[in-house]
Amino acid sequence: MAQGFTVWLTGLSGAGKSTIADELARQLRERGIGVEVLDGDVVRTNLSKGLGFSKEDRDTNIRRIAFVAQLLTRHGVAVISAAISPYRAVRDEARQMIGNFVEVYVQCPLEELVRRDVKGLYAKALRGEIGNFTGVSDPYEAPEHAEVVVQTDHESVASSVARILAALEAKGYLTPVRQAVEV
Ligand code: ADP
Repeated sequence: MAQGFTVWLTGLSGAGKSTIADELARQLRERGIGVEVLDGDVVRTNLSKGLGFSKEDRDTNIRRIAFVAQLLTRHGVAVISAAISPYRAVRDEARQMIGNFVEVYVQCPLEELVRRDVKGLYAKALRGEIGNFTGVSDPYEAPEHAEVVVQTDHESVASSVARILAALEAKGYLTPVRQAVEV
């Protein structure tokens, strides 16, 4: 059976976690691998419905995602988690629980996030209309030992995904794709 693993994307809202998760999922499926994406926004509408944005609720949300990721990983699934997951200690808990784990820091400077403002939330947060907004009025603890750091303000989605795939191959979770040899 194929070896399962979890790619854990972490970073601020709008940094590119969902975008990278979707493209990574597409490329893994192309290789015939079973993939499940656990997207933070989707999880909050079902598995974590009712949870807020206090530290305690954020930690509970992440522990639930990690629990599901652990079950799926154990059964050979390629899991991609795309949630802000701002606290280092709970990400490290997820790493310990899951085992086959690649942490990806999806990095983007605040000024670029404000410029993108995909969901219109930064403008509101900067006006003080949203409390507990990560990166503006709530903490984000950057990873110190992420396997991959992607910088989405000056790196393409394709490049980020290629580097994540290379990390998975280097860890032995994924078999490198053989290039067709011309004869
Ligand atoms: P998150 O899931 O982290 O909240 P999203 O993926 O929903 O972020 O939004 C990121 C936005 O930034 C998208 O509109 C995406 O098209 C854009 N974007 C621009 N450049 C990049 C890049 N290099 N990598 C990822 N996203 C990018």
